[in-house]
Amino acid sequence: MELPIPQNIIPLDSILPDEPLLMMGAGPVPIPARVAAANGIVINHLGDTMSQIIEQVKVMSRYVFQTQNGYILGVAGPGSAAMEMAIANIVLPGSKVLNICNGFFSSRLWEMSNRIGADTIKLQIDNANAASPALVEEYIITHKPDVVTIVQGETSNTVCNQQLPEIAKIAKHYGCLLIVDAVCTLSTMPLKMDEWGVDAVITGGQKGLSCIPGISLVGFSEQAWEHIQNRQDKLKHWCLDAKLADQFWNKNSYHYTAPVSGILAIHEALRLICIETLPLRFERHKRCSEALQAGIEAMGLTLHVESNSRLNSVVGINVPDGIESKQLLSQMSSRYRVEISGSFGPNIVRIGQMGEQCRAHNLFRTVHALGSCLNALGAKLNLPEGVASLEDTLGRANFNGE
Ligand SMILES: *Cc1c(COP(=O)(O)O)cnc(C)c1O
Repeated sequence: MELPIPQNIIPLDSILPDEPLLMMGAGPVPIPARVAAANGIVINHLGDTMSQIIEQVKVMSRYVFQTQNGYILGVAGPGSAAMEMAIANIVLPGSKVLNICNGFFSSRLWEMSNRIGADTIKLQIDNANAASPALVEEYIITHKPDVVTIVQGETSNTVCNQQLPEIAKIAKHYGCLLIVDAVCTLSTMPLKMDEWGVDAVITGGQKGLSCIPGISLVGFSEQAWEHIQNRQDKLKHWCLDAKLADQFWNKNSYHYTAPVSGILAIHEALRLICIETLPLRFERHKRCSEALQAGIEAMGLTLHVESNSRLNSVVGINVPDGIESKQLLSQMSSRYRVEISGSFGPNIVRIGQMGEQCRAHNLFRTVHALGSCLNALGAKLNLPEGVASLEDTLGRANFNGE
């Protein structure tokens, strides 16, 4: 007997809104047209065309990661797959790992280290603060870890470990391998893999790089690569085994069928970053995020994180008392077609400033939608003041976000 044919399946164009929502949340973010076009193409995963594209992806990634000889591997999967690839290949079962945890994603690195069977020490940094180098050093001296993990930007509560360069230096000084999650920050703010001495940089497609979700990159330092090559044990993760992925990424042969469309998309995302150049891209992100923050504060709202720990790539806003963030999000999306994010923990909403989100026209639309919907829900915000401040801050920088 055959199963019945599914009935009443609605075609996508009847499900999706006529006008796409403006994706201003914590990711995925809007993608440039060239990235979208590349994502619609399928080619032979092992042909000459593919190997030329892979070579370019590696060259451009090294620029974006700021590493001369780092080993770049792609992974078919979310940012979490890149996190797991870094952990699984660098952390040996039984080895000692210091996990610096500011929130949800950095704690995921701790969780993954535990699952590998590492002897983990969790350094929990609470209350939306950045990690302090002195405290990290104290933990390293006490616990003597082999590996340290940290997030550059903690998307979940919008904290930035602004002293990452100092922390990296300390980790190096004590001979630890350092894994940095840069999913939401890479290409939005400086990260210098070689200069800072980072051993593994993790990124995903759909945040800082302004690409699609489901394709991710990991960069390993020469020292990390040597460590991986010297491992005698067999990894439990077959798909994430860097030695096997090396077959495809460096030796032109087969590991698993690569996500060809995703790789073409990330090629275009990286190429657009190279055309823009990192310094100008960082400048655009900083200006736009600071103008957004100024606009939000000027209308009478408060930001979740103090400026010395604040992340620019994702901005956390305290929701005024008596207002449900769920209601706010649904109003913004139905009335103005603007999508922002809620949060897993604190009573905040989050606006992303990653890639295509950092454009003046998107900022005005988002600030207006936020203020207008909050007022409709009973807040007493000065929306014109917020918009004026956004305009003023962007203008003062003689910068239009384009
Ligand atoms: C989003 C995010 C991740 C996880 O990425 P997924 O693609 O959802 O698996 C990890 N770390 C940080 C900092 C992130 O922002």
